[in-house]
Amino acid sequence: MSTETPKINRRDWLRQSAAFIGAAAVAPLLFTSRAEAADKMAKTAVNYRDKPKGSEMCSNCKLFIPASTPTADGECKAVAGKISPKGWCDIYVPKS
Ligand code: SF4
Repeated sequence: MSTETPKINRRDWLRQSAAFIGAAAVAPLLFTSRAEAADKMAKTAVNYRDKPKGSEMCSNCKLFIPASTPTADGECKAVAGKISPKGWCDIYVPKS
């Protein structure tokens, strides 16, 4: 039986820590109503853009709140301001 501990480099540790912190910040938003999600992040904080990233876009993100028509700007549970259904940001959460 080996007594060696698994090695992890600093870059991987930082990357895993950032992903964990991001997931922890977003997780409550997945289970709260629109009214409960009062504090939202700025678009710049999550690198929001009005264009999709491949097939990933706001309209198929769990945090997107659509407008009355599919092409109109909607809202996001996590990001402040008008959100394009074709937009994308760093905290994109795919619908399952
Ligand atoms: S991709 Fe970002 S801005 Fe768009 S709905 Fe999801 S969390 Fe909100």
